[in-house]
Amino acid sequence: MSCVFCDITSKKLHAHIIYEDDTFIAFLDKFPKTHGHTLVIPKNHYRWVWDEPFVTDHFALVNKIIQHYKKVLDIPTCYQTVWGNQVHHAHIQILPTVDKLHPPSTLDPNEALAIQKQLSLKY
Ligand SMILES: [Zn+2]
Repeated sequence: MSCVFCDITSKKLHAHIIYEDDTFIAFLDKFPKTHGHTLVIPKNHYRWVWDEPFVTDHFALVNKIIQHYKKVLDIPTCYQTVWGNQVHHAHIQILPTVDKLHPPSTLDPNEALAIQKQLSLKY
């Protein structure tokens, strides 16, 4: 089965990683809707977030990343969505700076490096 997110977790595909541990990986969306649009996924393939045996850990990590983004970006909150109909691998989207929504575009590699540096969590 081909899965673009599994290719990212196995490092077959490059992504701008914001956070990584043994269970999860967070990286910049390739087609960002906001500055710092981030996807947080389990490293193992699950179709839906609700299929994960450690779903509370997934949400705890999303909360940790959002608290970090609030500080770094000086914003009151981030939007988040539990999506799953574009890539069939469980993922939670974090959308900071929602007041600056812009149409989907491809992430510019140079801009991505700057955002990655700005938003990366120590791990
Ligand atoms: Zn997958």
